[in-house]
Amino acid sequence: MSEPKYRSPKGVHDVLPEDHQYMTYVKKAIRHRARQAGYKRIDPPLFEDRAVFERGIGEHTDVVEKELFTVGRKGAEDDAGNKQFALRPEFTAGICRAYIEHGMQELPQPVELYSIGPCFRYDRPQKGRYRQFHQFSIEVIGLSDPSIDAQVINLLVKIFGDLKILERLTLQVNNIGSAEDRKKYVDAIKDFFTGKERHLPEVDRSRLITNPLRLLDSKEEDTIILLKNAPTMEQFLSDESKEYHATFLDYLTTLGIAFTPTPRLVRGLDYYNQTVFEFSDRSTGAQNAVGGGGRYDPLIELLGGKPTPAVGFAGGIERMIWHMKEAGVKAPNKDQVDVFVAQLGPEAKKKCLGLVSALRDLGVHTVGALGEASLKSQMRLADRFQARHCLLLGQLEVKDGTIILRDMTAGKQKQIPFDKAIPEIIKILGKKNLDTYSITDKLGEYTDPGEG
Ligand code: AMP
Repeated sequence: MSEPKYRSPKGVHDVLPEDHQYMTYVKKAIRHRARQAGYKRIDPPLFEDRAVFERGIGEHTDVVEKELFTVGRKGAEDDAGNKQFALRPEFTAGICRAYIEHGMQELPQPVELYSIGPCFRYDRPQKGRYRQFHQFSIEVIGLSDPSIDAQVINLLVKIFGDLKILERLTLQVNNIGSAEDRKKYVDAIKDFFTGKERHLPEVDRSRLITNPLRLLDSKEEDTIILLKNAPTMEQFLSDESKEYHATFLDYLTTLGIAFTPTPRLVRGLDYYNQTVFEFSDRSTGAQNAVGGGGRYDPLIELLGGKPTPAVGFAGGIERMIWHMKEAGVKAPNKDQVDVFVAQLGPEAKKKCLGLVSALRDLGVHTVGALGEASLKSQMRLADRFQARHCLLLGQLEVKDGTIILRDMTAGKQKQIPFDKAIPEIIKILGKKNLDTYSITDKLGEYTDPGEG
């Protein structure tokens, strides 16, 4: 095959049909657990005023400083020449903007929302790090209590458990205190590094000025060595924060959730306070977290709303799927072709048109590539489609009112009356394998089709 002329951009992937088996399954698990817990779905737009992210996530975070995909029409830049809009790098800021905009503070609190969809970051592409990826996000807005934080984590534990990847993950937890606690701590960190700047790599030297807490989750070896003797956040927590954290840990224990206290866990985004947590890969550590979250009480006010406490989490779906594959978890293949209909001759073709349509209506996944090819090559095609069964209608069968039913796995076939083809297929497949969802006549007994 010659080299294709066009390829998808760097760090961006097609979600191919075989990937969707996993994608759909993961989304379904998330939706199922979120609904059980009373969450409602919200989809903020793919792009927002870039100020929503700058204000909400923090101007001196990697996500805003380096990774925002900005978009906009030429000539519509702001006074500083910046494009006005940015593709969402995560959901939380957009959801909080929507909470304020749609007056959700008038609803019974807390408001529990979840979101699933693509996010965009101009990251350096590498394993598990892409420029377009899928996140799911859950947010509980309007109430501050350690029991809410514990319940959010419990919901995630259920989701990861359903997907059979919980065992592969470690839950790291920390408390980064209130804004005042953190201010004292930031001063202490600055003091600690004063005079040591020249030992810091350049990236951390500038973080020390713009966002000193980021040094705590630095990946730079020199910084990590220096941090060994640095003051810890715990020393600066107020009694109130300490009590909040102790109660939170107690609730996790009550729920039977295992956790690892991680004093250096700060999370990369600015808006967090009190509880922070991450689910990381048990074998490789924090570098490839499957997801993280925490309490972000200051965010709604930062975005211009009334002060409103909140807690949330964002998980990376590609990384979850990677874990599922590593763990040998198979997602069900809902795209399996049940029946391939092959035919020969104009009469047979006409009869097969109706047959294919009727089978599909009854929930049988049916492919009828009703071309002019020979029966033999149609059978080869049925094989390539990995159809479970084949119905063959040639001129002879049309004449005597029969049809051939072939079991493709067993390689056996039998001739049956044409009218028996549908009941026979339904019988063989069994009721539970039929895809009988229909939006038009089954609303009363709606079953989740599991897409989207
Ligand atoms: P964050 O809020 O940055 O911690 O992101 C939450 C989760 O989203 C991470 O733990 C990852 O699972 C996922 N994630 C973040 N950025 C990327 C990326 N560039 N590619 C793939 N997944 C990502």
